Amino acid sequence: MSTEYDVVVIGGGPGGYVAAIRAGQYGLKTALIEKDALGGTCLNRGCIPTKAMLHTGEVLHEIRRADRLGIEVGEPAVNLEKLYSFKDKTVKKLVGGVKSLLKGSNVEVFKGTGVFLDQSTLEVLDADGKSTQRLKAKHILIATGSRPAVPPIPGLDGVDYWTSTTLLEENRSLPDSMIIIGGGVIGTECATILNDLGVKVTILEMMDQLLPQMDREAAELLRKSLKKDGVEILTGVKVTSVLADGGVTQCRIETEGGSSTVEAAELMLAVGRGPVTEIPGIENLPIKTGRTGIEVNRNLQTAAPTIYAIGDVNGNWQLAHAASAEGLAAVDHITGKRNHTNLNIVPSCIYTRPEIASVGMTAVQARESGYPVAEGYFPIASNSKSMIMGETSGFVKIVSDEETGELLGAQIVAPRATDMIGEMTVALSAEVTVEEIGAAIHPHPTVSEALMEALHDIEGLAIHKASKQGAKKSVKK
Ligand code: FAD
Ligand code: NAD
Repeated sequence: MSTEYDVVVIGGGPGGYVAAIRAGQYGLKTALIEKDALGGTCLNRGCIPTKAMLHTGEVLHEIRRADRLGIEVGEPAVNLEKLYSFKDKTVKKLVGGVKSLLKGSNVEVFKGTGVFLDQSTLEVLDADGKSTQRLKAKHILIATGSRPAVPPIPGLDGVDYWTSTTLLEENRSLPDSMIIIGGGVIGTECATILNDLGVKVTILEMMDQLLPQMDREAAELLRKSLKKDGVEILTGVKVTSVLADGGVTQCRIETEGGSSTVEAAELMLAVGRGPVTEIPGIENLPIKTGRTGIEVNRNLQTAAPTIYAIGDVNGNWQLAHAASAEGLAAVDHITGKRNHTNLNIVPSCIYTRPEIASVGMTAVQARESGYPVAEGYFPIASNSKSMIMGETSGFVKIVSDEETGELLGAQIVAPRATDMIGEMTVALSAEVTVEEIGAAIHPHPTVSEALMEALHDIEGLAIHKASKQGAKKSVKK
């Protein structure tokens, strides 16, 4: 016997659980299948635990430099057990919240692995591979997420390497030293956590800058800051082999300067994540899977139109908020409701010190796309709130269309950059001009004033920025 549902979601991460709640809110008969913990990567071994541990590091950092504020304290001691317990409690509370929200929206949750029997039938298998449920579904949402990628480096299969999951979920003790292969988002955030907790970190990044997708000046500021805090960073590196020997892991590397060996107690991989596409039975359906994930159209439908793929598994973005937005858009498409979200406008945040956030195009990308670009720039060193906070390394860059005044993008390196990018995301989505956003009064003293100043700077009219040339354009009467 099988029960018939309007929507069945496979995977309970921020893509799947959000979609299921919305489907339930719309009154659709909805089920969600999750083989592990509700909340997925984001809540259990991603966004939330990393940010909990980064917050601990932030407090440590503040205590260590409290002397500048007239607060005299000794070197703080870290109790790892309590630190992990704080992180676990935060995760547990949020996972419990997701469970109640699903229940409140009448979503039935089935624990187990979702398996396709055909395009509209799923089976739930328990940990022993035994079938526990059979579900008929008018619509299916695949939200199975991603997992860490493993690069083809000789010797790696003989090394007991870490991933971000080892740090967040599995381990409770930290080594003296760690090599991190990959200087992207996970590499730099984990380096910040480990370094704050006293681990000697070396990052090996193959491209010529950290965070290769980010604005070069932003990446350079982060490199300087991590280096000042004691992290060793090697860019333009090819790791040719790894070897674990007597408690030491060695990486043979090639750089422009020749080959050498880097060693540490442990090795962490942070070279990207790949989609979880191997759902049993999917191979019998007309669903196409490429290198970056399950192929979908702009409505997030796979080649089998009643089956959607949302979140990390479709390879559009690998961000929790993008997964959730796609989940909501897919459910709206199923019900025929209009969805107002522009799924191409996705803010990106990196919770390092300094924080980095961006949305839309950089000036380089805008020029490559053929726009006549006008830029505004404001240094964070000139912002009063940042000065008080002692975080003066950074900037706000605004990219706009010189002819129409349309906002095209923003890049922020600043304390609370990850909160401030929301304003620019709203502005981009609402398609307002830089003049209109810049005309809004920003509260004082806040870091957000730097946004307003950068917007004014497009016309050469930032008040708190010394300018040799005066206004860039003549004042319109
Ligand atoms: P997931 O969250 O991966 O969830 C997929 C779920 O599907 C899992 O629970 C899995 O168990 C389940 N599943 C898989 N196959 C099956 C099956 N056959 N049957 C049943 N269940 C199945 N993003 C941000 O936006 N901000 C951040 O700060 C951030 N920090 C991160 C830090 C780290 C260390 C990592 C690894 C990621 C981070 N991310 C962050 C990325 C974010 O976690 C992902 O983009 C997000 O979780 C993707 O959501 P999802 O729903 O697509 O998949
Ligand atoms: P990433 O793509 O951000 O970074 C991977 C890095 O590894 C790149 O810089 C790449 O050049 C480098 N690399 C690849 N192969 C290498 C090799 N053989 N040797 C040396 N360097 C190599 O991927 P990630 O850091 O693993 O994170 C995966 C995804 O998770 C991110 O793209 C992001 O979308 C998401 N995430 C987001 C957040 C956030 O929003 N704050 C935090 C963590 C993760």
